[in-house]
Amino acid sequence: MSYILLTNDDGFHHPGLLALKDALATLGEVAVMAPDHNWSAAGHTKTMHKPLRVKDVTLPDGTPAHASTGAPSDCVALVVLGVLGPRRPDLVVSGINQGANVGQDITYSGTVAAAMEGVISGIPSIAVSLDSYEARDFTFAAQVGASVARLVLQHGLPPHTLLNVNVPGRPAEQIAGVRVTRLGQRVYRDVLIERQDPRGRPYYWIGGEPPGGAVDEEGTDIWALAGGYISITPLRMDMTEYELLSEIESWLADWSLDLGRR
Ligand code: MN
Repeated sequence: MSYILLTNDDGFHHPGLLALKDALATLGEVAVMAPDHNWSAAGHTKTMHKPLRVKDVTLPDGTPAHASTGAPSDCVALVVLGVLGPRRPDLVVSGINQGANVGQDITYSGTVAAAMEGVISGIPSIAVSLDSYEARDFTFAAQVGASVARLVLQHGLPPHTLLNVNVPGRPAEQIAGVRVTRLGQRVYRDVLIERQDPRGRPYYWIGGEPPGGAVDEEGTDIWALAGGYISITPLRMDMTEYELLSEIESWLADWSLDLGRR
């Protein structure tokens, strides 16, 4: 029987996690270790300068679970390092996140980072997000996540890779299908908001509208969601731009740093 670690970045109490837990229960034993508060946009965190606490909690349906004071990636590390016992998970599933994680979002996403932490530990991992900030019904997205999880348990994944799954925020009967995609281009609409604290000193919020994106770039995750398709993007941890290797090598003809070696 497969042993699945489920985490998220919205906190253990979030309904997206509960829905995914129920759907994954058909595939194996599910252990939940999730943050004790919302870590959205935490990125890939490793907590090194303060202790981590783990406590027994219950999900909204009464299911026993575990919460930690750490980031989503810390939650995965804690379990892989044995905090729940010696057994290593066969699969790490992160989600369901409230809001899509597409394009450059993946570098900010605590949801994707938790899956990356699983991959770094050599465990096949997937991240699941729902493209809606309002939806409270995660049933369909959970079915999608569990279906992808089943395929990954069946086929495995190559080392250093993960799957990033995004589900459109619309009713199941309006889903157009599924597309395997590449990362698209997000368009962020961040604005700097400056206010004054009670002592007259400025402080800042990074605010603005939710991000948009290049919806016309066919084959991308952003394009798929805009068209009502479930998006599955295979990601690799290797961010090397191989096409630039020889170009940068050629720059070194002008290399002028004296290394003290002749
Ligand atoms: Mn989140």
